Amino acid sequence: MSLVIAIDGPSGSGKSSASKGVARRLGLRYLDTGAMYRAVTWWMLTQGVPVEDAEAVAARAGEPVLECGTDPDAPTIAVNGVDVSGPIRTREVTNAVSAVSAVPAVRERLVALQREIIGDGGIVVEGRDIGTVVAPDAPVKIFLTASEEARARRRARDLAHDPAATVELTQAEQARRDRLDSTRTTSPLTKAEDAVEIDSTSLSLPEVIEAVVRLAKESTAAG
Ligand code: C5P
Repeated sequence: MSLVIAIDGPSGSGKSSASKGVARRLGLRYLDTGAMYRAVTWWMLTQGVPVEDAEAVAARAGEPVLECGTDPDAPTIAVNGVDVSGPIRTREVTNAVSAVSAVPAVRERLVALQREIIGDGGIVVEGRDIGTVVAPDAPVKIFLTASEEARARRRARDLAHDPAATVELTQAEQARRDRLDSTRTTSPLTKAEDAVEIDSTSLSLPEVIEAVVRLAKESTAAG
């Protein structure tokens, strides 16, 4: 298998920017698994499925067909042929996604698809359970963290177009999402035993990218 770099961590830790940057630097593909859970959540909401009802979500989990583009310069995500890269970033989806991603039938389906996309490797994969469940044999595993405040600031910046998304509200919603993601029964957000933890609170994006690239080069040289 060629290189797989797993990057896990809580929301707002800078996973997406770092993962894309690393993929570009090393000429690898890029997969955002959070976008996949968001896409299924968007689809459930548009279908009127009550997302807090795990049985109702499980009953429809086999229906949405996802397509994910893995170019780090232009990642794409579509559900049943509809481009959803914009709608999956709304607060409505963000606040519903943890309920949907906790449903085992949803995870089974998406993990299978993620493994299919990973294939023979050559990819940076970001998420919550990549190093623990999706690709436990990945030669490079990163657990990216940042202080709660730094994470909320980054998220609020991402949501600058939404006047309701103050730093305080974003922080509360994020804390709720991280709590749900970390305490669910199936594949909770947790650091893999052999993952390297990087705290990005006081690091710039190029510094985080450099740290991951260095680990990847060390792993390639050793392997
Ligand atoms: O990374 P992002 O914030 O876009 O992820 C959205 C949500 O998708 C997370 O809050 C989590 O509920 C879910 N997720 C997951 N497993 C992954 C990636 C994301 O459960 N590997």
